[in-house]
Amino acid sequence: MTVTPMMAQYLEIKAAHADALLFYRMGDFYEMFFEDAVNAAEALDIALTKRGKHNGEDIPMCGVPVHAAEGYLLTLIRKGFRVAVGEQLESPAEAKKRGSKSVVKRDVVRLVTPGTLTEESLLEARRHNFLVSYSELRDEAALAWADISTGAFHVMPVARVRLSPELARLAPSELIVADGPAYDAARPLADEYKIPLTPLGKASFDSTAAERRVCTLFNVSALDGFGTFTRAEVSAMGALVDYLEITQKGKLPLLQPPQQEAQDRVVQIDAATRRNLELTRSLSGGRTGSLLAVVDRTVTPGGARLLEQRLSSPSRNLDVIHQRLAALDFTVDHAQIAEDLRAALRKTPDLDRALSRLALERGGPRDLAAIRNGLSQAEAIAGFCAGLELPALMAGAMSDLQGFDDLLALLEAALVAEPPLLARDGGYIATGYDAELDEARTLRDEGRSVIASMQQKYAEHTGITSLKIKHNNVLGYFIETTATHADKMMSPPLNESYIHRQTTANQVRFTTVELSEIETRILNAGNLALEVEKRLYAKLSGAILETAARLNTAARGLAELDLLTGLADLARGENWTRPKVDGSRAFHVEGGRHPVVEQALRRQGGETFVANDCDLSAQDGAAVWLLTGPNMAGKSTFLRQNALIALLAQMGSYVPAEGAHIGVVSQLFSRVGASDDLARGRSTFMVEMVETAAILNQADDRALVILDEIGRGTATYDGLSIAWATLEHLHEVNRSRALFATHYHELTQLAAKLEGVDNATVAVKEWEGEVIFLHEVHKGAADRSYGVQVAQLAGLPASVVARARDVLDMLEKGSREGGTKVQIDDLPLFAAAPPPEPKAPVAPSPAEEFLASIHPDELSPREALEILYKLKEAA
Ligand code: ADP
Repeated sequence: MTVTPMMAQYLEIKAAHADALLFYRMGDFYEMFFEDAVNAAEALDIALTKRGKHNGEDIPMCGVPVHAAEGYLLTLIRKGFRVAVGEQLESPAEAKKRGSKSVVKRDVVRLVTPGTLTEESLLEARRHNFLVSYSELRDEAALAWADISTGAFHVMPVARVRLSPELARLAPSELIVADGPAYDAARPLADEYKIPLTPLGKASFDSTAAERRVCTLFNVSALDGFGTFTRAEVSAMGALVDYLEITQKGKLPLLQPPQQEAQDRVVQIDAATRRNLELTRSLSGGRTGSLLAVVDRTVTPGGARLLEQRLSSPSRNLDVIHQRLAALDFTVDHAQIAEDLRAALRKTPDLDRALSRLALERGGPRDLAAIRNGLSQAEAIAGFCAGLELPALMAGAMSDLQGFDDLLALLEAALVAEPPLLARDGGYIATGYDAELDEARTLRDEGRSVIASMQQKYAEHTGITSLKIKHNNVLGYFIETTATHADKMMSPPLNESYIHRQTTANQVRFTTVELSEIETRILNAGNLALEVEKRLYAKLSGAILETAARLNTAARGLAELDLLTGLADLARGENWTRPKVDGSRAFHVEGGRHPVVEQALRRQGGETFVANDCDLSAQDGAAVWLLTGPNMAGKSTFLRQNALIALLAQMGSYVPAEGAHIGVVSQLFSRVGASDDLARGRSTFMVEMVETAAILNQADDRALVILDEIGRGTATYDGLSIAWATLEHLHEVNRSRALFATHYHELTQLAAKLEGVDNATVAVKEWEGEVIFLHEVHKGAADRSYGVQVAQLAGLPASVVARARDVLDMLEKGSREGGTKVQIDDLPLFAAAPPPEPKAPVAPSPAEEFLASIHPDELSPREALEILYKLKEAA
């Protein structure tokens, strides 16, 4: 079976990239063949055609135009594909030179995977795009992560039990692991968090090779300058770099030196807690409805990314927290400066991402301009605060923005105000910057105007007034007349000057010696101009990349300022206060609110949010509030709001409260709400118990624990007993600060027995047999649960509500008098429940009688109006 040379080439490249769709460049299209074509056609909803035969069968084919490839790539990546982009490495003419049958050289220039994207259109501007690598070496493990679109690069040791919470925190776009045990450990988590998982060969993780790779990347002889790393950390970093080499085909992105993170620097939050508290994603999966969405007032993508990172990893380092708060105090107090800063920041482009595209040679003139515009805004920003005494964090950010005068001057002189998207067509270097370029452009443009005047000359010479000079890519410049005039030009004497080039349906095309000469001149000048621009592009891009490390720092400074002024705007607008954070074990919130619920209520325009206090301050033992109250009273809201206030305070933000004193929280646990995890085959109760177990096994006296309705998923006495024992354990062993909401009123007795436990309840009022929710939290226990009233509110049929009341009365009476069994047996059957009392007949009023006589369907609008007047009189 013979295969065409092109197909042979295709199959060879495809064999080397079996796990990816191969985009095989053919002219203006990326073509896909065989299985790839079938899969891609379906995923992209494009036509599947065929081309030639292979082993006697048609070869399925589909293709996407190169100029629109990004959009298709995005769809494919979202749908979980990886794409190998195979380009033509020479022109067809070059291939022909090598031999008449030669196929154009092609190879994969890049592997597009979810974790290695750099294109603006493929990325979410306001989110990180982390590629994470997990390595296990004997008894050590580590995570390394990088965002090649911004250059961020981090690493930290991680115990296998901490893998899940760390992955939940980082929310990777792609996870790489070595085949074997690491893969087995990561697989279930990747499934749970829906992270694309890419296994790599063990060689990628070999720590000796890894060290070499990382050293080469940063051009150092040893890693000591960056910190002391475990072998697992080195292995994770090295594998990550290896994967970048594989996917970027040797063109390495601009990574910053690895920043080592320590687990004990940030609040530990497990995956369930993160989900329950809806920190960066709501339970339904989107950003809307999350805490992040409510607090985000940043105006730059870099600021938004920093905010998400801070909110995902609140600090537990007092120095860090105090520094952030001090800087925030300044921006809150200096409203005008903050506003000016925000106005300037709004005009600041995404420096990090422009830089990373330039480094990977995927940039364009607009990325050069982005750096220029960013630096010029940075200069303006640094000026706003000149001469002011700034808090350390701001002073640091401001000084990071300075020292770019030369680069800025270069870019400002060299670039036009609004450069085109593509470098290919030129036109981005400003006039007056380079003499050679200016000269070439003048020649080119003069040529063009000469051509314009030639049309006039030829029209006069031939006497054909409709004659035109046109241009296309095949013929270049040509003279065009209609067929009727053509004969004249093809016969003497005109045929001596006008050379026939082409005849189309209606037109005939000519050229002249003079026209070709001028064309050559224009072409040469144009090509020269393009060449000079290309050279200048490389020079500018080089100058930027030389400054890359400092530019990243400046971008970080801008993001910090954006975050600060955004938080200040939020604090002022929402009336938030500065929390006091210290090393004590205080937890005292006055007038606290839930920012997300508050905003939702406001949007609905109904009730306003009721602020509540919470005091879990403790010396050395536990401090637990046992919260009772009916469903819908606001227990969950209260629990969550206190956790959120602690997190906000420790990320360095003001908090939605009248006052807050938080002794640093090191771990946050929550068990809130019950949801079946059917995908993993676990019942509500099982999920609840797994999460509770994790809390009881890990929480310490620096933890903040939020437990909502423990034991709900099982029989009453089981549930009560579990809740009881859990509360005791929290108090005696974990000694955490905790909020414990329950519907088991029996638990309230524990407050008398356990010193650190206090009862609290969410108040409701009963009015004419209905409950009214006051949403006020008070000390003390709820007297009853009002379940029946809540059920009534929910629209349970009246007969069921009445019946439930009877049963409840009996049960309560029974438990007071001992022995419920008898009374339950004595209860009359449901069917025998008394029907609602018929109302005594009352004589209808004259108005009612009149109303009864009206038949609306028979009335004209006018008659209806008259009746209304009559009724009004009668009333
Ligand atoms: P529970 O956990 O007691 O069943 P939730 O905390 O789920 O109650 O609250 C039920 C609803 O009550 C919330 O959706 C919210 O609309 C409202 N709510 C809760 N707390 C407050 C409050 N402090 N002020 C105003 N409305 C509140």
